[in-house]
Amino acid sequence: MKTLRLILGDQLNYNHSWFSEKDENTTYLMAELRSETDYAPHHIQKVCAFFLAMREFAGHLKNKGHRVVYYKLTQSKETDFYHLIKNQVKEGNYDRFEYLLPDEYRLDKTFESLKADLEIDVKAFDTEHFYTTRYELKNFFEGKKMYLLENFYRNLRKKHDVLMEGSQPVTGQWNYDKENRGKYTGKEELPHKLLFEHSTEDIVETLEKEGVKTIGTIDGNTSFRPVNREESLKLLHHFAEHALPLFGKYQDAMITQDWLLFHSNLSFAMNVKMIGPKEVVNRCIEEWEKRPDEISIAQIEGFVRQILGWREYMRGIYWAKMPRYATKNFFGFENKLPRWYWTGDTNMNCLKHAVKQSLEKAYAHHIQRLMVTGNFALLAGCDPDATDQWYLGIYADALEWVEITNTRGMSQFADGGIVGTKPYVSSASYINKMSNYCKSCSYSHTKKTDEKACPFNSLYWRFFEVNRDKLGNNPRMGMMYRVWDKMEADKKKAILDKAEYYLERVNEL
Ligand SMILES: Cc1cc2nc3c(=O)[nH]c(=O)nc-3n(C[C@H](O)[C@H](O)[C@H](O)COP(=O)(O)OP(=O)(O)OC[C@H]3O[C@@H](n4cnc5c(N)ncnc54)[C@H](O)[C@@H]3O)c2cc1C
Ligand code: SF4
Repeated sequence: MKTLRLILGDQLNYNHSWFSEKDENTTYLMAELRSETDYAPHHIQKVCAFFLAMREFAGHLKNKGHRVVYYKLTQSKETDFYHLIKNQVKEGNYDRFEYLLPDEYRLDKTFESLKADLEIDVKAFDTEHFYTTRYELKNFFEGKKMYLLENFYRNLRKKHDVLMEGSQPVTGQWNYDKENRGKYTGKEELPHKLLFEHSTEDIVETLEKEGVKTIGTIDGNTSFRPVNREESLKLLHHFAEHALPLFGKYQDAMITQDWLLFHSNLSFAMNVKMIGPKEVVNRCIEEWEKRPDEISIAQIEGFVRQILGWREYMRGIYWAKMPRYATKNFFGFENKLPRWYWTGDTNMNCLKHAVKQSLEKAYAHHIQRLMVTGNFALLAGCDPDATDQWYLGIYADALEWVEITNTRGMSQFADGGIVGTKPYVSSASYINKMSNYCKSCSYSHTKKTDEKACPFNSLYWRFFEVNRDKLGNNPRMGMMYRVWDKMEADKKKAILDKAEYYLERVNEL
């Protein structure tokens, strides 16, 4: 039976069972398409990394003796998957079309409509990547009001026997989150960065010639982002050996001198499936078992929680709540993102660093995304559609299933409390506690209303005041409302005036 099998750019699973046998009647189809480069303005490094990783994967399959048809951006006359597949099936006289379940709702719908429209057998297969199935979280929380990460995470620890001793956590404690909040003061040496040589000139040239709109910059042929399995494994070993020992401790830290600290930078490799979450978790647990004196339980548990916990949880939320999730706007915010989200040209030092780094590297670590750029967008009342588009474009690891749940859900609270029980907002005091940004900032982190008062401080209190109808009854916000309500009327007015002053000049901050 002549079969056409589609592989998407984020389905580069080298160990998938599809590839265990060669079959000359089966053709694998991969394509660089305008529908994918254009659904958001992506970072140039993101587009290059995807195309390079896809080309490497196609090369690997060919070397293994599989039949592969690969279309570079300028080689296919079709610009989207629906038309590409319809034409391929017709021109190639295929009897059967097979695909791997996509992780994006949009593509899922496309393939479902193809199922109805193609007059041949169509079959979907699992990507064999995640710990959980698409609807496992939905079923787990069936009938429950709250979707608590901790419950889901503990269940997965038990189910997959990760850091467990029988039915109990290996050290008697499930979660070491409280030990994951250290401020980095330079005492310990930062791990060196792993760099890879990749040639991107021809891709950059094609993107320019074809008028593909991108953001950010790309610099030369060295990259810290792996584009094949070998490089992904190298990065995993590098992380386990050098950064894992302090991963948990400095998970929430931010500094001006470095963009990665003790983070793994594995998200791109994992999200395009060059390596799987199980092998990442197992490799790191192996390292922890080998070096018990150097790697404490708080480090390994903190890391496992991100992958077995948050990553699977976000995917489950996505499939439980789409497509309505993509339209949620709990606060009804409509403001535009400030212009400096595309340049980094702001006097706010934390934002300058987080945005410039994102434009230069297509990467920011979690706390920069959550408590700097996300925090400001929320306090400034930005439309979650605009915020989503920015996050979806700027980070190389951004795919809707994990981007939207983190942005609209965790960061912007636009889902009204599905992912988080309260909005992640803070004044300058948190940013100052976790970073050295405030030390060299032209604003003062201790001031609320003076000329050089940090904008976070007044915007923070304004956020509480103007959203009282939405948040006033949230028990987790009660303490902050009590502090605000106890302030003298004059002081409150001065803070609110300052916040309005800043909002009116948000592009000049
Ligand atoms: C507003 C916002 C947007 C985000 N958008 C994305 C996105 O588009 N793609 C993406 O992969 N992650 C996203 N995240 C989650 C997280 O910030 C990134 O996974 C992480 O920064 C990637 O860097 P790293 O590989 O060095 O992670 P590390 O800090 O080394 O963590 C290890 C791994 O844990 C997983 N992980 C950690 N936190 C989360 C989380 N909250 N949700 C899902 N997985 C997590 C990732 O796979 C990551 O590679 C977002 C977070 C926020 C607050
Ligand atoms: S003072 Fe305010 S704007 Fe400046 S770095 Fe600190 S938190 Fe950011």
